[in-house]
Amino acid sequence: MKKALLLVATVVATVFSGLQAVAQKTYLHCGVLIDGKKDQPQREMTVVVDGNTIVAVEKGYSTPAAGANVIDLKNLTVMPGLIDMHVHFESETSPTAYSEEISLNPGTIAFRSVNYAERTLMAGFTTVRDLGGSGVNVQLRNAIKQGLVKGPRMYVVRKAISGTGGHMYPTNGYRSDLQGDPGPAQGVANGPDEGRKAVRYQYKNGADLIKIAATGGVLSVAKDGSAPQFTEEEIRAIVETAHDLGLKVAVHAHGAEGMKRAIRAGVNSIEHGTLMDEETMALMKKHGTWYVPTITAGKSVADSAKIPGYYPPLVTPKALAIGPQLQGTFSKAYKAGVKIAFGTDAGVFMHGKNAKEFEYMVEAGMPPMQAIKSATVHAAELLGASDQLGSVEKGKFADLVAVSGNPLQDIKVLQQVSFVMKDGVVYKQAK
Ligand SMILES: [Zn+2]
Repeated sequence: MKKALLLVATVVATVFSGLQAVAQKTYLHCGVLIDGKKDQPQREMTVVVDGNTIVAVEKGYSTPAAGANVIDLKNLTVMPGLIDMHVHFESETSPTAYSEEISLNPGTIAFRSVNYAERTLMAGFTTVRDLGGSGVNVQLRNAIKQGLVKGPRMYVVRKAISGTGGHMYPTNGYRSDLQGDPGPAQGVANGPDEGRKAVRYQYKNGADLIKIAATGGVLSVAKDGSAPQFTEEEIRAIVETAHDLGLKVAVHAHGAEGMKRAIRAGVNSIEHGTLMDEETMALMKKHGTWYVPTITAGKSVADSAKIPGYYPPLVTPKALAIGPQLQGTFSKAYKAGVKIAFGTDAGVFMHGKNAKEFEYMVEAGMPPMQAIKSATVHAAELLGASDQLGSVEKGKFADLVAVSGNPLQDIKVLQQVSFVMKDGVVYKQAK
């Protein structure tokens, strides 16, 4: 594993080492600026970046200080770097994904994940939460942080936690002699004590947040996709331990009962939330729980399930039943006033296609400015990083993207990002 990452590091570092040396100020002349906070875009603005920080946002096209760089974005709409609250960089959908679970070595997973991370950054997503993998995701986060490979800044779950036989159980569908009896170290917890141990184990090994499977799921080789899989007592033990350690808790859930238990136990976000009813929405508002909808994943699993043999037989009917319902749920939750943070579940579909989610959100009734805020200022709030991320303001990290056209009139332009800056470094600048 370490050897594989070192090799990746050597190859990639030589390709983009030129990008690392950014010392002087950079002036970005922005034709239109959507800053993530105001409801109206501003015309003819200058954003001044020093190192990895935004040091000024000025009206008009400011004259640069002597020796400063100027980046001409006068024909573009500039926005804060986009944030996807739900990706999986260790994998990407494929009909061979299930057999690969037992055949891929960590090194191969790492090489592939480097490609997925780069694609995501180039699509304008400068920050992501990786909501579960094998542990390679932690090493990928560190490699990106160290400038060894290109990718978004990552908040990582490491391994998600489930009960025995639950949605994220590591050996579901394996031949019986390969199944074993995984425990807290493998992300499996039964009872409050094991829940506490599983959280502490993830924390010790580099997790930035915790994820649990509160209900069944679509892509696990298991019959049920929505019934509860933890007691409220178990979830409460996990949440208390995580919060003591400063970690937020994201919850995979499709069925309402599992969601309600998790919300009452104090979790921070519900992911997917497919079968949430009005009572669940009211409970989320009461507790301030965020909703991360992943509409794109719902639609794409339903599409893939129509291809014969794409998924194992236990998975296909769940994908067909649950997938198409997500967009409708999102629409109801938005109208009910539930707090929404943008998230796609990329990996369940191709990495780099994350911005398709904006189109689905707007199609379901969310105004474009709100959709953009869900992926910027609101996502930053759920991350607990409002002081660093999510808006174009003095003192925040210099994470900026730009598109040609007006996303407030045509949200699809976000699928063609032409400029990407992360941490003050330009990664993409279309001619
Ligand atoms: Zn997911």
